[in-house]
Amino acid sequence: MKTCPECLNKVNDIVRVCKYCGHIFHSQPLAPPAPVKRTLPKLSFTCSLIIALAVLATLSVVYYASVDGFRSQPKPTADPATPIDAVIMCDQFVKDILKAPKTAEFQNVYQAESTETTPDNFTVTSYVDAENVFGALIRTSFTCKVRYVGNDEWQLDDLEIDE
Ligand SMILES: [Zn+2]
Repeated sequence: MKTCPECLNKVNDIVRVCKYCGHIFHSQPLAPPAPVKRTLPKLSFTCSLIIALAVLATLSVVYYASVDGFRSQPKPTADPATPIDAVIMCDQFVKDILKAPKTAEFQNVYQAESTETTPDNFTVTSYVDAENVFGALIRTSFTCKVRYVGNDEWQLDDLEIDE
């Protein structure tokens, strides 16, 4: 139904002339429906605030978690060198100069004497059993001074071998 603009009576949509007053409807097509605007229901201020805070809190947690995760990862250079590390390194340095390193049997690293004289400087006293040029197994005692220079690198400062 449509409303006649002249007499305000309701007439059938399809008629061209109002049956009440004779008003002529122009044969214009039906007006397209007015665009319907849809908007999200407006959130109340409090509601928006809560959501904003929740988002902020989540971001903060993520941020601090990542910062924390970063901090909790120790840098390799920050690894403190231990006396045991020093013994292992001294064994390596001694092995380098042995005539038959494959036969080398070092004293247990936990039984070797290792003292940190100054920070990152170690003096190790230990021994190695290895074959000499004649194939005889002999024990060689050594005193080794090593220094941890960082980045998993050690420097040999002194090596005394008691043959
Ligand atoms: Zn009319």
